[in-house]
Amino acid sequence: MKTADFIIVLGCKKCGKCDGICETGALTHVDGIASVDHEKCNLCMRCIKVCPNKALVYLD
Ligand code: SF4
Ligand code: SF4
Repeated sequence: MKTADFIIVLGCKKCGKCDGICETGALTHVDGIASVDHEKCNLCMRCIKVCPNKALVYLD
């Protein structure tokens, strides 16, 4: 049985580069730190591609 894939945030540096790129509203920032709402995320990977710090990690 396959478990749900999702993206976690590890060690966000608050650089803001991922700000505004999420089209589903899943990616938000609280005090600059990124957060992913797994219910809204469609796993498009846009945020992972733009993060220069590898703070967004895809788990499958
Ligand atoms: S993978 Fe896509 S939908 Fe999910 S948080 Fe990142 S930009 Fe948003
Ligand atoms: S691009 Fe990466 S380090 Fe920068 S705010 Fe987004 S998740 Fe954090």
